[in-house]
This record gives sequence, structure tokens and C-alpha cells, in this order.
Amino acid sequence: MSSYGHPVRFGVEILGGAGAPGDAVSLAVLADQLGYDLVSFADGVEEGDADPLTLAAWSAARTSTVQVGASRLRATARPASIIARGAGSLQLLSQGRAMVMLGAGTPAVDLDAVEESVAVIRSLHDTARRSRASHSGTYHRLSGAEPGPSLEQEVPLWVHASDAAGAGLAGRVADGWTVDLAEVDLGGLETLSAVVDGAATDAGRDPREVRRAVTVTGPAALDADALVAMVVDHGMSLFVLRADGAAAGVSQMRTFIEDVAPAVRDGAERALPPGALTSRRLRRADVRARRRPDIAYDEVPEDLVEMAVEPGDAAFGKVRSTYLRGGNPGLVLRPRSEAEVADALGFARQHRHLPLGIRSGGHGISGRSTNDGGLVIDVGALDDITVLDQAARLVRIGPGARWRDVAKVLQPHGWALSSGDYGGVGVGGLATAGGIGFLNRKHGLTIDHLRAVEVVLADGTLVRASGTENSELFWAVRGAGANFGVAVAFEFVVDEVDEVGWAQLAFQAPDPAAYLEAFGRVVADLPRETTPFLILGQGMAQVMAMVDSSDPAVIISQLQPFVDIAPLVQQQVVIAPYAAVMNMFPEAPHDGRGEPASRSALVREITPGFAAASADLIRSGVSHWYQIRTVGGAVADVASDATAYAHRDTRFALTVMGGNAQRLDQWFEPVRRHSEGLYLSFESDRSPDRIADAFPPATLARLRRLKAQLDPHNLFQDNFNIAPTQDDTRSAS
Ligand SMILES: Cc1cc2nc3c(=O)[nH]c(=O)nc-3n(C[C@H](O)[C@H](O)[C@H](O)COP(=O)(O)OP(=O)(O)OC[C@H]3O[C@@H](n4cnc5c(N)ncnc54)[C@H](O)[C@@H]3O)c2cc1C
Repeated sequence: MSSYGHPVRFGVEILGGAGAPGDAVSLAVLADQLGYDLVSFADGVEEGDADPLTLAAWSAARTSTVQVGASRLRATARPASIIARGAGSLQLLSQGRAMVMLGAGTPAVDLDAVEESVAVIRSLHDTARRSRASHSGTYHRLSGAEPGPSLEQEVPLWVHASDAAGAGLAGRVADGWTVDLAEVDLGGLETLSAVVDGAATDAGRDPREVRRAVTVTGPAALDADALVAMVVDHGMSLFVLRADGAAAGVSQMRTFIEDVAPAVRDGAERALPPGALTSRRLRRADVRARRRPDIAYDEVPEDLVEMAVEPGDAAFGKVRSTYLRGGNPGLVLRPRSEAEVADALGFARQHRHLPLGIRSGGHGISGRSTNDGGLVIDVGALDDITVLDQAARLVRIGPGARWRDVAKVLQPHGWALSSGDYGGVGVGGLATAGGIGFLNRKHGLTIDHLRAVEVVLADGTLVRASGTENSELFWAVRGAGANFGVAVAFEFVVDEVDEVGWAQLAFQAPDPAAYLEAFGRVVADLPRETTPFLILGQGMAQVMAMVDSSDPAVIISQLQPFVDIAPLVQQQVVIAPYAAVMNMFPEAPHDGRGEPASRSALVREITPGFAAASADLIRSGVSHWYQIRTVGGAVADVASDATAYAHRDTRFALTVMGGNAQRLDQWFEPVRRHSEGLYLSFESDRSPDRIADAFPPATLARLRRLKAQLDPHNLFQDNFNIAPTQDDTRSAS
């Protein structure tokens, strides 16, 4: 008995459909409808055949679940980089359904070309590669090639081989080996299977890494007992019917999946010990070699395995870092449901000795949604945006949604939800902290629109919190949410917002202190419709302001006082949908490096002292980013004890970023003396003093009591940690 534990699957291999590629695609659609696991298009069977990867891409667009790919792909017939880009694009477009089977069988293809292809494709699919790819082989040469499409999951690379040399290659490097029963008999199958095992072992691999497939045709395809024997005796786990599209072929496709497949599955399950055929993915040895000793990778809950990313995985480069911080986590779990979030937290509880990052959009300014050597739970896949009640303007939003997408969905309804100045920011991080956006003076913070939130707590329980259910948690989530659980859904009442006035004004500002004081005076008399953000640098100032009105007269009258502050060097004022403003900056994969250094201060007035300290800081050159957002207005209408975000009387939120935290602090300290608190989302110093700045004493004491109830063992501590009231330690179970 030599089963490798892989579940039994069924596929169909379609010939290239020379002259009738549409018919080949129709067969793929039929295969999907019939419940096949795989459709592959064979390369170069007849002259004039359509390109198999193109057929696969066309089929992927018309199917929903079936895996799609190319088989017997000739590695000498096309550059490996072209295969890499085509297969990578197919993987992205089909949402992880691509596969490639390279041919090393008949007609004979030089095995070196196949081996080189595998190396080139893997290197172009490796998102952790930060330099361009090069390869200098006999068949394939690359020099400084751009990385391929940025993949979530690697494309499985199989090798089709009917002789010992090809089988050995499959064992050494491939994710799977496939053989045609028309080319070998059962004895040959056994011999070649042993070759695959031996080659895998010699290469330091586990033979179970290499999945096994047999292509069958004619009467052999109908002999369920023979196929069961291949599962049980030779570890074959994928049976691929070779179909030609003729009427008889179509009928055989039906028989194969409707009659033969269930019989083979039943027979194999009966013949093998219970649970022998698991779907658990076994990673390649080179990936396993990069595992960290203190993470129980083989105990990752079954439902999370497929989407988990380890340091050796192709997708690691895409998930390791955040927008601002470089990271190197030991494992990134990417749950797709509340239940999977609970499982991920169960796994995290078994790894309390490691840092734990919770990530939604990865824009956290302190960068705690990545780490070095720890776990990350990334809920980016929970990104649904659904209108629950049109009349009440009630909208349910997943934490992984980006504010750009939220704005886009709300726009056709004539609605908007004030969030921030950057559409790429995630909902989860911002909506658990505050949300100081371009509409805040008129409409309040993002959290002021929250009506209910669903949270998976540290113990894995899913709870709903609102004004009437778990109301203490509802209070805490609105400002300190990251300490209490993983938010998995938010319900907001959004605002009616027509098109808005959007202004970008640039000024000469040789005297930053004078500019700041004048800006403060203008804001003091500014109607709530307008929310300006100011960026101040050495000699220049930029005001970005949103006016919640589409009336040009209102927009001009509210902006005019800014124009009078200093000589205007550039201006752009447009009337546009809020969603267009949120879509101003394109989103790129996160590639933060190093540690961010950001400081926040909430200020009631721009006093001469504050302005002078700010001017000193700007002139010192320690900061590359000095930004003031205006708050107050509707934000201050909410009582300071109504939410954990408490500093509602302040009217300016300052963010300063620099390259060196120590030098930044030296110049920031005099500024801080004029502040009355800070906004956690713009701070990166996680010391207790800063927590005390963020939350007034009564708020902090209330948060600590709740923390003691909901997260007594402080699972959620790798953020701005609110220690539970009772004495506690990381080591508690
Ligand atoms: C370019 C840029 C512009 C910004 N503009 C604004 C702005 O205009 N207004 C504003 O208010 N803020 C702004 N921010 C700050 C931003 O709101 C916060 O950094 C926010 O935390 C980012 O959310 P995220 O989900 O993208 O981040 P992530 O990095 O994924 O998360 C940040 C932190 O939030 C917590 N968290 C994330 N997801 C969850 C969850 N589902 N449940 C519980 N806790 C969670 C974790 O502690 C995590 O470390 C900006 C940030 C950047 C980088």
C-alpha cells in the first residue's frame, strides 16, 4: 500500500481543438458543470491547435470552480518567462485555479529545458524577490527580468513523463508527476512511481510532496477497480480522462465523472485506513526548510492551510510587510470567514510566546500588523460591502474592505462615509480607532457612524456589540478596538453626500509659525462644511480641503479666507464625487522597509507657543511630514465619554513623521507640551506614556476593566496595549 494521503480527484484533458477552439472551451464549461476538479488543454497535439494557456484563460472566465491549465506543455517551444507570465496571470484571474503540466514525455523533450523552465517560472513567481530575476541556462536566459504577476498562491508545476529520466526529474523538482496509461503499463507505473520516490528522497524532499496523476482513455477509463488499485497500490490521486469532443467522448466524460469517480472514491476509502486521504497541502522541502522552529506549522487548522503563507511561499513577499513597516513574520493566516478567524485565534493562543499582528488593510502607521518571526492574522479577505437597509442608509462592511471601495459602492446611492484622506487604508484598523476624514467637521468621525460591530474575542467567541448588546464593548471598539478582539463586520449609518468641493492650494510659507497661526485663525471661523488638512514644510504649505457642498458659491466663499493667508502659488478646485477624491492615489503592493517613526498630538488651539515649537521642528529637518488635520465641529458634538476616543474638544490633529525616532522626539517634545492628547492611529511610540496621552484616566481605567474581562491573558498586546486591570502575564494559557 503506498497512498500518499492525497484526496482522489478527476480531470479531463482536452485536445487543442484545431480550427475549433470554441468547442474545446465548451467542453471545459461542461466539465465544470459536471463537477470535474481539473480541465487541462494539451499542447501541440495537432498542427494549428490553439495555445493551451490561452484556451485555459478563456475557460477560466467561463467556469467557476474547476482548476484550469495546460498539459504536456513543451518547454522547448516557448520561453519559460512567457509561460510564467501567462500562468501567473491565469492564476490571478481565475483566483487560484491555474496549473501547468510541462511535458517531458512524448515527443521527447530535453529534460534540461523542463528543469530550467521550472526554475525560471518559480523565480518569476516569487514575490519575496526584491531584485530582478536572471537565469543563464542552455535553453532559457533571463537578464534582469521584471517579476511576474504578484501571486496569492503559487501555480502548481507538474511534469508529464513516461520514462525513468522524466519521472526522476518530476521527483526532484515538480509539485506533481503525470503519466499516460497509453504509454506505460501497470508494471511500468509501479517502476516509475518508485523512481519518483527515490528521486524525491535523494533531493531531500518528502515523496508526499509530489502528487501523482494518470491520464486514461478508452475502456481503461471505465475500469473503476483498476483505478482504485492505482490509488491504493501506487498512490495515484488524479485521474485525467483524455477527451476529444466527439459525441462518444462527451458521453464518456459524463460516465467518468458520474459513475466511475464515485466508485473510485468509495473503493479507495474502503481500502485505505480511515482519514488516509486528507486534503492537507504538504509544502515543498525548500519551503519547509524556511520554517521557524517555534511555530507548529503542521497544526495550522485545516480550513486555514490553503490560504496560509509561510516565509518560503511565493506569496510571502506580498504579505510580509505593511505600507510603512518592513516585516518578516513566521506565518500569515488569511481567514475567509468568522469561523476561520476563530480558528486562527485558537492557533495564536497556542503561540502566546510570539508576536501577534492583526491586519485588515496593512496601513497601520505604527506597523504592528506585521512583525518579525511572529504570527499575522490578515482579515483582508473579509471585504464585503452590503447595503442592509436603503431607507435607513445602513451598510455592512467587512474589515478588509478599503475606503476607496466603500466610497465607490456608496456613491451611486448619493451617500458617503467620512473615513480619511487615503482610499487604500483598510476599514478594520481605522474603524476601530477613530477615522479623522475629510468630512469630519460636518459629519463626525467614522466611528460616530457605527451602529453595530461583530467581533471575535480572544477566546474565539463571536459577539455582536451595539448600543443595546455588549454595549461596553461597543463603547470600547470606538477608539480602542484593537485591544479587544478581531472586528469581522461593521454596520454604519452613512450620510447623504452630494458632489463635494475639493481644493488643493499651495502657498509660499517662508515663516511656518506665522502661516500656522493664520491658518488657526481661519479655521476658528470656518463653517463645518469645510474640513481642511494642512501640510507644512520648509518654505511651503499645502492645504487640501473638502467642502461638503456642490454649490460653487459656497465652495468659493468658504475657501477664500485660506487664499488670503499667504501668496498662493498653485491652486486646483474641482467639484467631484467623494469617491473620486478617495481614488486619487493608486494602491501598490505593500513594501514598507524599516521602522516607521510617527508622532501625534491633539491640540485645542494653534497658540503662538505651539506655532513656534512647530516651526523649530520643521526647520530642524528631522521630519519629512508635518500635517495638521482639522477636527472639532461634529466630532465635538459627541460627549467625550460616549466612545473610547475621548479627546473631542481638540480642534487640530497633528502628525509628524521622521526617519529617526530619537531625533524626532528631541524636537517633538516642545510641540507635545501644547497638546491635550493624541490619536493612536498617527502614533508609533507604544510606551505607556503615549497610551495615557491617548486615553484620559477615566477612559483608560474603564478600558482596563473591560480588557480584564474580555482578554484577561492579553492576547491582543502587540499594538497600543491596554493592560488588563488584574495583574497578568503573557505566559498564562
Ligand atoms: C497613507 C495613510 C493615510 C492615512 N490617513 C488617515 C486619515 O486620513 N484618517 C485617519 O483616521 N487615519 C488615517 N491613517 C491611519 C489609519 O487610519 C490607521 O493606520 C489604520 O489603523 C489603518 O487601518 P488598516 O486596516 O489599513 O491597517 P492595519 O495595518 O491592517 O491595522 C492597523 C492596526 O489596527 C488593528 N486592526 C486592524 N484590523 C483590525 C480588526 N479587524 N479588528 C481589530 N483590530 C484591527 C491592529 O492593531 C493593527 O495593528 C492613514 C494611514 C496611512 C498609512
